[in-house]
Formats: sequence, C-alpha cells, structure tokens
Amino acid sequence: MHSHYFSCSLLRPIRIAMMAAVLASLAPLVAASSALAAPPPTRKVAAQANHPLADPSIAAALQQVSSSRIQATIAKLVSFGTRQTISAQDADSIAAGRGIGAAREWIRAEFERYAKDCDGCLEVKTDSFLQPAADRIPAPIQLTNVYAVLKGADPANADRVVLVTGHYDSRNSDTLDAKGGAPGANDDASGTAVSLECARVLSQLSLKYKFPATIIFLTVAGEEQGLNGSGHFAKFMREQQEAAGWKLEAVLNNDIVGGDKSPGQDAAVVRVFSEGLPAAADEKQIARIRGLGGESDSPSRELARYVAETGRNYNTGLKPVLTFRLDRYLRGGDHYSFNKEGFAAVRFTELQENYTRQHQNVRSENGIAYGDTPDHVDYNYVARVARLNAATLASLASAPAPPANVKLLAKDLENVSTLTWDASPGALATSYEVVWRTTSSPDWEHSNSAGSKTTITLPISKDNVIFAVRSVGKDGHKSLPVVPAPER
Ligand SMILES: [Zn+2]
Repeated sequence: MHSHYFSCSLLRPIRIAMMAAVLASLAPLVAASSALAAPPPTRKVAAQANHPLADPSIAAALQQVSSSRIQATIAKLVSFGTRQTISAQDADSIAAGRGIGAAREWIRAEFERYAKDCDGCLEVKTDSFLQPAADRIPAPIQLTNVYAVLKGADPANADRVVLVTGHYDSRNSDTLDAKGGAPGANDDASGTAVSLECARVLSQLSLKYKFPATIIFLTVAGEEQGLNGSGHFAKFMREQQEAAGWKLEAVLNNDIVGGDKSPGQDAAVVRVFSEGLPAAADEKQIARIRGLGGESDSPSRELARYVAETGRNYNTGLKPVLTFRLDRYLRGGDHYSFNKEGFAAVRFTELQENYTRQHQNVRSENGIAYGDTPDHVDYNYVARVARLNAATLASLASAPAPPANVKLLAKDLENVSTLTWDASPGALATSYEVVWRTTSSPDWEHSNSAGSKTTITLPISKDNVIFAVRSVGKDGHKSLPVVPAPER
C-alpha cells in the first residue's frame, strides 16, 4: 500500500534500493498520512511496455521524428555557405541561395509547408527589427527571427505558451566575417532542425490530438553576435505577458545538439543546463532564496527536472543529464535572454563538444580538419534530442496550468507541513500532487496526491525537505511544479 502514497514514478531505478530503506523508515508516517491524504487519482493511460506513464498519442508522434529529414534540413542550412548574422540578405543573394537572408526565407517556406500539411494549423510569423550597432554588430542591420505558432485549442488555456528555439545564424573563426564560409552544421543547424522537426511532428499530431496550450517553434538570428535575436523575442514575450496576458511557461533552447562523432562523445545523453539563482530575481527575492535554501529551485531548474522526468516517461533513447549551471565556461546561449526577462528556460547541449569544429574556418592544419561541417553530425542523435524536446513540449501543452498562490504555512513551530494553493486556472486540473525531496537531493524523490483538494497536511517537517505542488489533468499530464512561498 505504500505505493499508493509514495509514487515510484519519479524515482530513478538505481535509487530504488535506497528508497526502500527510506520508505521502511517512514512506514509509521505513511500510516499516519493515509488519514490525511486523499485517494490517488485514477489514471487510464494505456501502458507502453516500459513507459507506463507515456501518453500513447504523444509516444506515437515521437516515432514520426525522422533522422533523414533532420539530415536534409541541416544539409540545406549548410548549403547557404554562411548564415552569419551580418551576411547578405538582399534579393539577389536570396535568389542565389547564399547568406542569412536565403536561410531565413527557406526556414519560413519550410514552416509554411508544415502549415499547409496540417490544414493551416500553424501560423508562420517573423519578428523583424533594426538591430542597432553593438559590440559585434558594426552597423545597424535588419535582424529577423522566424517562428511558427500552434495555437492552443482551449480558449481558457491558449494564452499559456511553451517554446522551443535554436539559432539559425552561424560563424567561423572571425565573428565579424560576413563573407567567408561558416557551415554551422552542429552550431546551430542542429538546434534549428530540432525546432523545425518538432513543428512538423507536433503539427501533424494536432490534426487528431488537441493541445489546450500554445506551442511556439522559434528560430533566431544574432546568437553569435550577442544573443540579439533571442533578446528581442524574449522582450516581445514579456510585452505580450503584460499587454495580452500571455504566460510563457517554458523555453527549450537547443544549441550544439549534433552529437559530434569524435571519441569521448556519449550519444545516449544530453546535458540540460539551468540557472540556479534566477537572473531576474530582485534583492528581496534573493534574500528569501538565501533564507530558505532555495538556490536550486529556480523555475528554470524545475523545468530541467521536468525534462528529466519526461526522459524517463518516454522512450526517446536519450537520458537528460541535469547540469546545475547557467551554461558552460566562457560560453552563453539564447536561454539566458529569456532568463533575464524572468522566464523558465534551459539549454540542451551534447555531452562533449569538439572545439576543432566550433567557430572555426573550414581548413586543414597539421593533419587536423577544422570547421563545423555536416560529416561530424550524428543525425540519429539529433533525432533523439528532437524526440525529448517534442515529448516535453507536448506534455506541458497538454497539462493544466500550474496551481496559483502556492503557500507553505510557517506560522508555528511544528513537525507537520501544511500546503495550500488556489485551483489551477483554466479548469483542466482534476487533481493536485505534492512532490518533495530532501534538501541535498538533486531531483524529486516522493509524491503524494492531494486529490481535488487545494490543501494538504503531510507528517513531514518542512525544515528537512523542499516541497512543490503541481496540477494533474484527466489524462495524467502534469504541470510544472511550483515551490511554495512561506505564509506567516
Ligand atoms: Zn550556438
């Protein structure tokens, strides 16, 4: 009966032995909690052999992700010679198929093709603006992000947005070289291909399966010059939040997900980077994080844990590795633009990068081949990354909104913990679930359903664990978890 109250769905197999010991030690508490906890929700999701929590419609869609289509996308993007942000975008260059303008037009046409194939379910748009001169922008230039919107089918949830992005610009050894070859097969035609392939597969799925929330498939320019494209789009999303009530819940940034085939690569894993202290936190918020030990519970980190859980629930052939750091040493990426505007955003990157490939002129020197050419990309790997992204987007866009106003009562010194929250906006939630872990654990260890109630008391001291609450929909789709604020 323990399993009724302590779901094992969150546990990694290697922890089960350890957990058995913990459960045994908690047995008296479990008995006590049965009086407090509502019965667990019934779930009727047809089981996949080893992935009982997978939604069969989403699992079937993941099978449609095609490594040969991804290969064709990357080959096409490389064929433009360079996609450097200040490279040509005049009509003649577009017609000749060289430069970032030609890449931009091809991406737009590709999204339009997917839109046609799904009876117009995708709205294809550009976010075009005059980028002023900056550090790596010698003179003002037109910069264009290209994206497709799969609008949520439920009016009460369509203002909720999840987003996947990759940068379609490239560079060679010289950031300012707008003419020389810059194939950018891994960095970042691979991430662009992930956005495109997710758009293709999920738009097809939407013909028979309605996502209540909105999904945006984004490709940006200007990453190599200073995150210019993503910076503009993140501000646009912030404005939409303030003006139109949009709620951007999650950003998945794919940058260098080509699975470079050099020795030392592990094609069975992908790193998921997430910030600790939120870039957008003010002094007061940082003081609260310091006081409560919340350094590892930014919204971005909860999103990273959601990706890890999705990786366990779906057969993507890829294990997400939680990397508790904003980004790699000396490097940055587009997720940071969204973090700065206060959004949850994570970065996917292959395990071991090959620096003779990235940001290099294509050449041979002392028998070493330099340059970011397609022959080093593992298309099956990119396909696995696309499946993990698509599963995460589909799960979040199917889930209810997270519960609002989540509180942990902290009025009294006591050894039980009471949490309260407001019902999930949008009416998709059928139940709520509390998850928790010891303060030193990287990922959620336990869960307990609160049924349809909006409060729960657990026989656990709040001093020893970190709690979060999430909404659960009728098909078992779960929202991002929300860490409670203390209520004094
Ligand atoms: Zn990059």
